[in-house]
Amino acid sequence: MVYTPAPKRYERSSLYRRCGKSGLKLPQISLGLWHNFGESDDFDNARSMLWRAFDLGITHFDLANNYGKPGGSAERTLGRILAMDFAAHRDELVISTKAGYDMWPGPYGDFGSRKYLLSSLDQSLARLGLPYVDIFYHHRPDPETPLEETCGALAQAVRSGRALYAGISNYGPEGTAQAAELLRQMGTPCLIHQPRYSMFDRRPEQGLLAVLEREGIGAIVFSPLEQGLLSNRYLNGLPDDARAVRDGRFLKPEHITSEKLAKVQKLDALARGRGQSLSQMALAWVLRNPAVTSALIGASSPRQIEENVGMLENQHFSRGELSLIEEILSSAPHGA
Ligand code: NDP
Repeated sequence: MVYTPAPKRYERSSLYRRCGKSGLKLPQISLGLWHNFGESDDFDNARSMLWRAFDLGITHFDLANNYGKPGGSAERTLGRILAMDFAAHRDELVISTKAGYDMWPGPYGDFGSRKYLLSSLDQSLARLGLPYVDIFYHHRPDPETPLEETCGALAQAVRSGRALYAGISNYGPEGTAQAAELLRQMGTPCLIHQPRYSMFDRRPEQGLLAVLEREGIGAIVFSPLEQGLLSNRYLNGLPDDARAVRDGRFLKPEHITSEKLAKVQKLDALARGRGQSLSQMALAWVLRNPAVTSALIGASSPRQIEENVGMLENQHFSRGELSLIEEILSSAPHGA
């Protein structure tokens, strides 16, 4: 099969937002390869998702060293598909990877040392078959390694040409401000932060988004659909092909409580009243804040990606809708 990208893929100019105060624009919806791109997943489905995403104007694919089962296999899958289908389009793509979680045995395959970060980046590039990635992230803060060393490794990744930009993920407001200052001093400013943010996880509102705005750093928020909970996926039970059933490492059936489902049902009704699906409303909601550059989704089919990009049709929230959402999110179980 030969892939020819849709000629009209850049027609939706409203899809792109500037990442902080940088020169880089990212699509409001980016695609992450954490799930469904590993060695044990359906390769043809993975390929179709990347094709559909690119045809819809999604130019950003996000990875980490440990994505896929086994860890590293999502990078290998993307590497194969890049070589087969996207070789002529590399400069139209923003590809990111990360290091920070447990990747290989021994003291050098985890956390935030220079030793770990730079050797992991080399391994990622080999799996991806690329000479450089666009963004290299430190995946999580390391309480033991001096931040100067971690930021120095990110800066070195950029200076050596192995990454175009540096990013951080899962850092709190204070660590973010410190890393931003260090990276600025090193001449390789922090482009982007990747926090978890959704209607069900509001932590970035407690200071982080304000720091990012002040520092001119973009935010790409992960799990904006709470791994599928903020969609119609679990409204009628637990489908066999859904993440909570198929994988269960991170989203477990017991996380899908009746309390959460009651809220999801109310949010779904509100979304339908707005003429959109719940996943579309949940994405528009994280993107309502101008500090958020992109919502980083996962998907298990091309159709889900299509539906999610459809959120562009209605990104506006009235004050009434926003307060109704707050009311639903803060409501006690069973309306008590
Ligand atoms: P989401 O919250 O978007 O969840 C994705 C899942 O939601 C899909 O796999 C699918 O579940 C379901 N879904 C998506 N769209 C629809 C739809 N339209 N209708 C119904 N169900 C839908 O994000 P993820 O949790 O997957 O995370 C996204 C990305 O964020 C990752 O791939 C990764 O790149 C990044 N990430 C970063 C982390 C970090 O520490 N920096 C941590 C975690 C993620 P199903 O498979 O059941 O169909």
